[in-house]
Amino acid sequence: MPYQLAVRGGASVPAGKIVAVAKNYEDHRREMAATQGSGAAWGSGAPGDVTPPADPVVFLKPASCLVGDGGAIRIPEGLANVHWETELAVVLGARLKDASEEEAMRAVLGYAVFLDMTARDLQAEAKKAGMPWTLSKGLDTFGPVSEVVPAALCPPWDEMRLKLVVNGEMRQEARCGDMIHRVPKLLAYLSRHMTLDPGDIVATGTPAGVGPCKPGDTLEASLPGVVTLRVRVEG
Ligand code: MG
Repeated sequence: MPYQLAVRGGASVPAGKIVAVAKNYEDHRREMAATQGSGAAWGSGAPGDVTPPADPVVFLKPASCLVGDGGAIRIPEGLANVHWETELAVVLGARLKDASEEEAMRAVLGYAVFLDMTARDLQAEAKKAGMPWTLSKGLDTFGPVSEVVPAALCPPWDEMRLKLVVNGEMRQEARCGDMIHRVPKLLAYLSRHMTLDPGDIVATGTPAGVGPCKPGDTLEASLPGVVTLRVRVEG
């Protein structure tokens, strides 16, 4: 049974694939390049290399990682350094294949706030070995998602803001409009490479301020004025 995304107003839609975009805010790209090297897919991979990616850097998360508002992120035993990444999620309401930017935007069902939880040590090992980082992003409960707010009830996507409060303390705050590869372009680009279906989620990348969480923490992610997602961390 696929995860059912709750849509504000009472409906729900079965979740499809989660297509995620890496390095899509300048300040986050720089913080990652400074700590890990930027990775072979964009620039030299050397620490401090901040060459921008010409095309979006795309990866997948399985729908089995989804968990809803009021749920819990479970950190498997032996795993440390699990980071939050707060992101604007775009949820599709219609099929997209080879779409123009205008067609792509008409296919948007709504928006949600998403936490692209990442086992940073596993990801760093995979990057170093030149291997896929799927496991570090795809563990069960590593995809908390809020209810989906229909696009008609949201401000324009680039006027919304992202915010993360951990244990009452502000950790991430950004304007969605500051992303490098913007929503219409992202959807059109993706649809040229893979068909997007109703219920698919496009996670559009995180701004600076990622950091590790631990059991007992409470994460409150929001698109302020639009929707809030509260989850706790369990060990
Ligand atoms: Mg991310």
